[in-house]
Amino acid sequence: MTLRLHDTLREGKEEFSPLEAGRVRMYTCGPTVWNYPHIGNYRAFLVYDLLRRHLLVSGYEVRQVMNITDVDDRIIEQAAAAGLTIQELTRPFEEAFFEDLKSLRAEPVELYPRATEHVKEMIVLIERLLETGHAYRAEGDVYFRVASFPAYGRLSHLDRREVRQGARVATDKYEKESASDFALWKRATEEDERAGAVWEAPFGRGRPGWHIECSAMAMRYLGETLDIHAGGLDLLFPHHENEIAEAEAASGRPFVRYWVHSGYLTDGTGAKMSKSTGNFATLRDLLAAGFDPLAVRLFLLGTAHYRTPLRLSEEALHAAAEQLRRLKDLAERVRLLEPAPGADDAAFFQDVVDTRESYRAALDDDLNLPAGLGRFFELLRTANAALDAGRVGTAGREALGELLAEVDAHLDVLGVEEPVLDVETRRLVEEREEARRTRDFAAADRIRDLLRERGVVVEDTPAGARSRLVKR
Ligand SMILES: [Zn+2]
Repeated sequence: MTLRLHDTLREGKEEFSPLEAGRVRMYTCGPTVWNYPHIGNYRAFLVYDLLRRHLLVSGYEVRQVMNITDVDDRIIEQAAAAGLTIQELTRPFEEAFFEDLKSLRAEPVELYPRATEHVKEMIVLIERLLETGHAYRAEGDVYFRVASFPAYGRLSHLDRREVRQGARVATDKYEKESASDFALWKRATEEDERAGAVWEAPFGRGRPGWHIECSAMAMRYLGETLDIHAGGLDLLFPHHENEIAEAEAASGRPFVRYWVHSGYLTDGTGAKMSKSTGNFATLRDLLAAGFDPLAVRLFLLGTAHYRTPLRLSEEALHAAAEQLRRLKDLAERVRLLEPAPGADDAAFFQDVVDTRESYRAALDDDLNLPAGLGRFFELLRTANAALDAGRVGTAGREALGELLAEVDAHLDVLGVEEPVLDVETRRLVEEREEARRTRDFAAADRIRDLLRERGVVVEDTPAGARSRLVKR
């Protein structure tokens, strides 16, 4: 079966096929690092991870980019208020973000570009838009002229009137031609100068608007047409609508082939979790309350289909923790099983094989992990009964192992834990980190080989080095 994905633009499930056979170019909107992300943001980040893993399982090579927004209004405001530069303010939150991703077992992606390191690309894109009349200057600011792009509003299925009404009036302090026009570049203010958030551009000293960050970095690393662009539903309008306008007005080509949006996480009352209303929990809050990050992962991915709203509650988190326990118990029973000769039961074996097929089919159907897990947990009961009754032989054990591996390719909750390293090995890991910091890559490679001899593989992730024991 082939993968079908729901595309927001076409409002339906579409068979997925990338532009270039076997390779997927995917852009995913990353965090704004002015604070700890709330758990609703992590729902979106884990949906990206699920999509990525399923593409990999399906045999695709994936090139995924996730931006780090380290300059925007809130960042500057907060940095200036605290007497910090934007860099001083954002770096610790960026680190915390990578720590969180790691504890939630989100697989590192190929690139995490920072907005502040790609202002040159944004300036080039804005210049293209100015030259073609899609943008205009107004007292040091540069705006996108929405009237010049007739397809505006197509993704969010808004008509022109709604777009105009929906436009945020708060931005009216600027000199715009039309209320729905949005800023590509903002002239430098005293606050920007204090926070170190200013760049020189041919159209004046200032800083980029938020939307242009994503379109410029997406095109820089993935080309003018991407296969997949994913983000939380809250980014659909105006962010993604604006990204399309910027990219397509400049390139004249379709920007994105499949738009994937994840649903909201709501609080106990069903209200959308958001930082602006204050009804939010961070991952740190949940961990401090004693929840296992892997249970949080299972809750966020396995409880509801990714496009539907998901309600955060202690009960649901406990239910996920219980599922996690049952899953791990079964994996352990299968691992320790010493099958008796002739123990295999043909009906049970077939049930395992069928479950694996149903699981895969559910994932291929717009990543319906909850449906796949529903089928898996039915089988889990049968499997425990079959194990109790001694009806699992060599073939059954192997089939169960394959099923568990298939499920864990998405969940990644059974994987090897971070190894506990002895003092000598830990010292080597630290020496290698130091060698990388000082860019002595020859030394770093030498130490990596020494570690390998000790059965430790070090993987370098943007969140830092991560070690694991070699599977023997
Ligand atoms: Zn974005």
